[in-house]
Amino acid sequence: MSRLQQTHGLSDEQREIVATVRAFVDKEILPAAADLERADEYPQAIVDRMRELGLFGLMIGTGHGGLGESLLTYALVVEELSRGWMSVSGIVNTHFIVAWMITHHGTPEQRDHYLPRMATGEVRGAFSMSEPGCGSDVSAIRTRAVRDGDQYVIDGQKMWLTNGASANLVATLVKTDPAAGHQGMTTFLVDKEPGFGEVAPGLTVPGKISKMGYKGVDTTELVFAGHRVPAAQVLGGAEGRGFYQMMDGVEVGRVNVAARGCGVARRAYELGLDYARRRETFGRPIAEHQAVLFRLAEMATKVEAAHQMMVMAARRKDSGERNDLEAGMAKYLASEYCKEVVEDSFRIHGGYGYSTEYEIERLYREAPMLLIGEGTADIQKMIIGRRLLAE
Ligand SMILES: Cc1cc2nc3c(=O)[nH]c(=O)nc-3n(C[C@H](O)[C@H](O)[C@H](O)COP(=O)(O)OP(=O)(O)OC[C@H]3O[C@@H](n4cnc5c(N)ncnc54)[C@H](O)[C@@H]3O)c2cc1C
Repeated sequence: MSRLQQTHGLSDEQREIVATVRAFVDKEILPAAADLERADEYPQAIVDRMRELGLFGLMIGTGHGGLGESLLTYALVVEELSRGWMSVSGIVNTHFIVAWMITHHGTPEQRDHYLPRMATGEVRGAFSMSEPGCGSDVSAIRTRAVRDGDQYVIDGQKMWLTNGASANLVATLVKTDPAAGHQGMTTFLVDKEPGFGEVAPGLTVPGKISKMGYKGVDTTELVFAGHRVPAAQVLGGAEGRGFYQMMDGVEVGRVNVAARGCGVARRAYELGLDYARRRETFGRPIAEHQAVLFRLAEMATKVEAAHQMMVMAARRKDSGERNDLEAGMAKYLASEYCKEVVEDSFRIHGGYGYSTEYEIERLYREAPMLLIGEGTADIQKMIIGRRLLAE
């Protein structure tokens, strides 16, 4: 292993988990990713192995059957998975966010009901805020839940659900009191069957959204038409807290998007370095032309800087401190650097970088997703700027 992306101060257990995942990525993800991505095929065998490794329960408490690991361990695992194939990290990421929300905001009954089966990967989580008409402006959502006895009736359309088909539990943000702004929003734990079509009465997953990259993992819409949910499925048991619960979920999710950026950038750097050593022009390896060497130096510096910032943001959350500023900075920096490192590696590959035979072509289509997901770069800058002013 090179000296890039080293993390100091890890426990023996953390080091062992990360090394196990790295070996799994090298042996089982990297060799399979190209074919699965080309076929846009769900990586079922990889997911089954991740269940065996306990990755779906990595951060779920030991009392509920998980490994009880820290956000830092989880982020380092995500970094390794993304080095192999970003889509695989997407499969665990929404699950992780929903498990986090249930752990920190659920009622004792909701925790006991869901977390043990989430730890094994039997229950798999997706989360849903975005709608066709809004993503950044969460308060503009229009999906509505109306109380009817001990049930709620939900109507509306959701958009961009990562794992929308493969999940059987969707943490869904809706409006219960449209006049009350942020306080009028509620998160429901919506159970459904995996798959497409009518997955519960009055609840439809129409189909898979076709994407430029981030393939294999399903991204879907979700249509509510008079779907009934028991009142006991309100996350935390009381209306009006949904916006804050979701924001807490995406805040830890941002550290993971940063970790994904670190993993993809690391892989792009490795590919660029390897190619630059082997490809010769004008009688010597291109790595010996200063323009290419400087490019590699810039790439490695960005890979290292993004990793250290991501680690700092994760550690801050683990220490119990507020980390919205650091998570926003880490997500912003890592996703921008990732895009730049991938582009530099693409340039190093010359014409071959444009061929679908070369892995960098896949990374080139995956990196832009990180600029958008879990809040765009502009939204991160708003969060960072407001927090700075508040201080
Ligand atoms: C592959 C994929 C998977 C996704 N998975 C999920 C998921 O699992 N669950 C989920 O809920 N959502 C998911 N999303 C949705 C994602 O979170 C949104 O796309 C994202 O938040 C941006 O929202 P938008 O697309 O509506 O863009 P808009 O909010 O319409 O923004 C458009 C542009 O305007 C800019 N902009 C908007 N407001 C401002 C402002 N105030 N100041 C400055 N600039 C601004 C934005 O930065 C952007 O450049 C996913 C998206 C993708 C592409």
